Amino acid sequence: MLYEWNGTKEIQVEVGIRRGLPGFQILGCASLSTKESRDRIRLALEASGYLFPLETIIINLKPAHIPKRMVSLDLAIAVGILVATDQVQIPEGRIFFLGGLGLDGSVLGGKELLPYLWQNRDNADVSFCLPKSLQEDILPAGQYYFLNHLEGLQNLSGSSPDNREVATPPTDPQTWERVFLDPYQMKTFQGLLYALLGKHHSLLLGSPGSGKTMLHRMLEPLLPPKETRDQNDQGIWTSGGDFEIPTRKRPFRTPHHSATEVGLVGGGLPFQPGEISKAYGGILYLDEALEFKDRILESLRMPMEDSYLEIVRMNEKTKLKTDFTLMLSANPCPCGNYHSNHICHCSLQKIRLYLQKISGAFLDRITIFQTLFETTNERCIKLEEVKIKEILSERFAFRNTRLVPEGEEQRIQKILDTNPQTKQLSLRKKKQIVSLTRTIADWDLSSRTKEVHIWEAVEYCIGYQWIYSLG
Ligand SMILES: [Zn+2]
Repeated sequence: MLYEWNGTKEIQVEVGIRRGLPGFQILGCASLSTKESRDRIRLALEASGYLFPLETIIINLKPAHIPKRMVSLDLAIAVGILVATDQVQIPEGRIFFLGGLGLDGSVLGGKELLPYLWQNRDNADVSFCLPKSLQEDILPAGQYYFLNHLEGLQNLSGSSPDNREVATPPTDPQTWERVFLDPYQMKTFQGLLYALLGKHHSLLLGSPGSGKTMLHRMLEPLLPPKETRDQNDQGIWTSGGDFEIPTRKRPFRTPHHSATEVGLVGGGLPFQPGEISKAYGGILYLDEALEFKDRILESLRMPMEDSYLEIVRMNEKTKLKTDFTLMLSANPCPCGNYHSNHICHCSLQKIRLYLQKISGAFLDRITIFQTLFETTNERCIKLEEVKIKEILSERFAFRNTRLVPEGEEQRIQKILDTNPQTKQLSLRKKKQIVSLTRTIADWDLSSRTKEVHIWEAVEYCIGYQWIYSLG
């Protein structure tokens, strides 16, 4: 039995052996690799000194409708055949066998199996039998048997499993230590800190060289560590192809604009998580956001608002919980110089067309909208990472413990409903303003929100109207 990548579904391997002509059939799997599996398993069993029964062998994989990676089922199937023919005994209790087989009977598999193990599993009575190559890896708490060859199955029931406690792997900290910002950049950075504190989605339009990417990247080391491991956390694959197990470090994902929809949202058979899932609990930063395909931006709309992603594959609908703060940055026009100190050669028509890539519905889900056009060479504000971290952790702590005066939301809502500048706004925008007002008050370490907080929030939340005011 083993877990499949997408979530908590295990695959059960049933083995039936009937007298009759030699045959080998795998049910519950439309894969063409059945024949290869049979040959591989037969040769591996024979090379390990076991008998491959010359009878009708029927392997039933349940549930049938889940797509399977055949290779990592090899070990489970081989063990099933050996147990069904009384050639080996396995320890009592539920065991998940995970691994492929070499023709010489060696048990294969490496880091690609780790995601299976890091899935949420609440069965404390389950143990795992894995390729020996994983013995040195950091594994979730549990009981493990390690095998490097099928021959080792003989001793399995006599041996005691390896008990593991959860270990937290070390993480290399990303740091910037000290930077000098000009006043415009500082103001923008403040907006991004609000976004970080309150998990507000944000968009920054700015000229090339204004520092948009740098300001966003400065957030990475400022992300607070996770309190506990969230069961929806699936770990991430690094660009190097290694599986990075869930840690207390929050992710800061920066997919390139050439990313595909599957790469960003997830998909494929078997299901591979996309950047959205990999950003779980952290930040998903799209630099040059307008270079991403329109469909990709639109596909973010649902998870941005509802915190889940619906994936339909085969006959199965899977709901994946999402939790990320979306941050976007982009040039204000095709040449990038609109509104800056350099000359912009784009017509208004062209700029409008360019900015239209962000649909109104999408903009409606962005809480913090900022522009960074002007810059000066007076980078006179010194920021130190250690200090900002201190300031932030104080604010996070405040936010987690403060009590909000009763009826506060209604009070803000009422102000927004009566003010000529805000009363026309959509319900969604007003909600965002209420929520950002709260964040700004938290930044001020104030449990009571003041008018000044409201108007600061309004400024961020209606900033997007700038796009429509062009021309
Ligand atoms: Zn331009």
